Amino acid sequence: MKASERSEVFFFPYDTGRAFLRGLKALFSSIAAVVSEGDSVAVKVHMGEYGGSTYLRPPLVRRVCDLIKEAGARPFVTDTTTLYPGRRFTARQYLATAAFNGFTEESMGVPIIIADGEQGYDGEWVDIPGRVSDCSLDKVKVASEILNADSMIVLTHVKGHPVAGFGGSIKNVAMGCVTKESKAAQHRVNRGLIALSKCTGCGQCVEACLFGCMSLHEEKMARDEEKCMNCNRCLYLCPEDVFSLPPRAKERLQVYLAHSAAGALSRFHSKVAFINFVQDVTPLCDCVAPSGLPVVPDIGILASTDVVAIDRASLDLIGQSKPVGKFAGISSPDILGKLNGTDSLVQMRAAQELGLGNMEYELKERRQ
Ligand code: SF4
Ligand code: SF4
Repeated sequence: MKASERSEVFFFPYDTGRAFLRGLKALFSSIAAVVSEGDSVAVKVHMGEYGGSTYLRPPLVRRVCDLIKEAGARPFVTDTTTLYPGRRFTARQYLATAAFNGFTEESMGVPIIIADGEQGYDGEWVDIPGRVSDCSLDKVKVASEILNADSMIVLTHVKGHPVAGFGGSIKNVAMGCVTKESKAAQHRVNRGLIALSKCTGCGQCVEACLFGCMSLHEEKMARDEEKCMNCNRCLYLCPEDVFSLPPRAKERLQVYLAHSAAGALSRFHSKVAFINFVQDVTPLCDCVAPSGLPVVPDIGILASTDVVAIDRASLDLIGQSKPVGKFAGISSPDILGKLNGTDSLVQMRAAQELGLGNMEYELKERRQ
């Protein structure tokens, strides 16, 4: 594609109701060429945190799986374990949480496979093609089952994120298609700074760190910098605010996300497409439960083969909508970034610079 050309983003608006069965059929036909008959197709989806309720509803995912099967391919629903301790930290825990949230082999009609194995370390290192800005990543460890698929359809619930601002397809691929090592490497830029004078030695962080990196010395916390996986559980739980994010952490994480996505997507060439669901647009992401009240009314579904264009179009549609409830009156073309204290376009600019896609797009309605 020439740089001057705009990428196509197909759009099914929810303006006449949420007729998602029809909408997904119309959109899928626009991107179906990425799937060949007989392909094993990774359907990448965040199946929700325990206690969350705004993750993608199971029927949306089931519909896409059925459409892929009708195209003669073999889909499986997939995601990876989390870096932070909780109810999706291992594959077994994740499958139990997925079942609680309505995702089972029976409800999906296809297998559900946690792509990075039981503990979250199964994968292969892939070179990241190119480097922009001050990113130190040159490789990413892509989860085995995703790496081994013939093609991938990425289903993303669009919402906010406390660090990235906007959580769309770039974020879903960057953090969700890789193993724990690569999640930790991306979050390295968020490792909390320490104000030791505030520490009361309560020991909560020592108990909470599942990687055994925290200890107490003379009634003050001590972090093993070699072993720390940057999950930031300690940062969020410390009652004394001992930890704080480093300067520019939010913007730097976005640049790292773009690099990780570039590595993970390099595996698929033209065999990947993205579907963004702009509904239940909460300020926080699906890993946070609860993730807050909707910021704007539900907007619709988008599909594209360009990961940058689809995220940019989703962000723009949110920016053009009138905020609701307690968000009414907030005016910003990037309300999710504003609510989370960053500029969400950083990730899209970095991804464009890395050659992942185009911020210029043409929105094409597909209703039938
Ligand atoms: S949780 Fe906070 S106050 Fe308690 S030991 Fe850890 S750093 Fe110190
Ligand atoms: S020290 Fe904190 S950030 Fe590092 S792994 Fe432990 S809980 Fe996570």
